[in-house]
Amino acid sequence: GGKLYLVPTPIGNLEDITLRAKRILTEADYIAAEDTRTSGIMLDKIGIHNKMISFHKYNSKQRAPELIEMMKNGTVIAEISDAGMPVISDPGYILVQACIEHDIPVVPLPGPSAFATALIASGFDAQPFTYYGFLPRKASEQKPFFEQMEKARATSIFYEAPHRLVKTLTTLSEVLKPDREIVCARELTKIHEEFARGSISEVLDHFKTTEPRGEFVVLVSPNTEEVAVSLADLVKLVDELVASGK
Ligand code: SAM
Repeated sequence: GGKLYLVPTPIGNLEDITLRAKRILTEADYIAAEDTRTSGIMLDKIGIHNKMISFHKYNSKQRAPELIEMMKNGTVIAEISDAGMPVISDPGYILVQACIEHDIPVVPLPGPSAFATALIASGFDAQPFTYYGFLPRKASEQKPFFEQMEKARATSIFYEAPHRLVKTLTTLSEVLKPDREIVCARELTKIHEEFARGSISEVLDHFKTTEPRGEFVVLVSPNTEEVAVSLADLVKLVDELVASGK
């Protein structure tokens, strides 16, 4: 019967396609891709030649019902994005939701995603973590997110475009303490893979002298500050416990 496969593709290094991803992309009736031209080039290099249909954020609302009809009639569709996992800061979730509503099986394949690849090499605790995807562009709209990251006991992860990195890190340094540890993971799995690690001010200085190029994942370390409890509050707490008979 018809079904939807969610198929991750490489985020740079073409060797990162999985054996299963390759088979599903070859066997599916159609590959639904954000950009059929870019994906076509990538798939060609991997040795996959199959029919493609376009599915991107601008046509997803109208396309989803068409794809649903096809899958109801037995068509197998493999959805990919330009790179990495579909749905992760990419289109797809509207189609997944529609499949669930129409009882069409959704089969996710594991594989590369930039945020998880960056997280495991960050040196920060991976449990818990918060993934924000792309933040808003305006500093005033970024600040509420950075205030959350300031307090967070979790590692925070977001994506940023190279030409906005310095401005965003500057805003970050205004909300968080400049000595808070961050990592900027650049060009993961590619020739120029690099991890810029250090305090916000150190990493910011680095990218002020070396122009940021390529693709970036930014990770902010968890807040590990001890919470100070006053003696007066402690005494009050003990009094309350005694009064409650515990
Ligand atoms: N679906 C993708 C995934 O699973 O990671 C994310 C797609 S999103 C439109 C593209 C953003 O992901 C880039 O702007 C960058 O922030 C991040 N990204 C993708 N590939 C990357 C790589 N090789 N190195 C670092 N960041 C990458």
